[in-house]
Amino acid sequence: MTTKPLPIITDDNREYWDYCQKHELRMQRCRDCGHLRFPVSFLCPKCHSTAADWERLSGRGKVYSYVVYRMPYHPAYQDDIPYVVAFIDLAEGPRMESNLTGIAPEDIKVGLPVELYFDDVNEGISLPKFRPAAKEA
Ligand code: ZN
Repeated sequence: MTTKPLPIITDDNREYWDYCQKHELRMQRCRDCGHLRFPVSFLCPKCHSTAADWERLSGRGKVYSYVVYRMPYHPAYQDDIPYVVAFIDLAEGPRMESNLTGIAPEDIKVGLPVELYFDDVNEGISLPKFRPAAKEA
């Protein structure tokens, strides 16, 4: 169990988190204009359509920007510092915010290729996080 703040599940985002629990990163692809939307939304921000399909993403991306937290802004993060919060440009287009782990903060570079993994924090929540991508064979 964690005492860290966790996502608040609502009727609007439940499907997204259900897929995360299955270790699948899925986002809504608009059925009318094709826009891949994130964060989860009832309406397409481009065309206002409500029709969408949950498309599975590759989990590959690149670091767009990041920040290193060197002091805890919440007591539950005391043991994690320093930790990294990064904006990841996903291969499919959307930019998402998450933790980047498995690399020393001083070794991170903008453009670093990363890959998705899931952190199973409890029975109901698996958080999508990122680590440096394995080298292509
Ligand atoms: Zn649309």
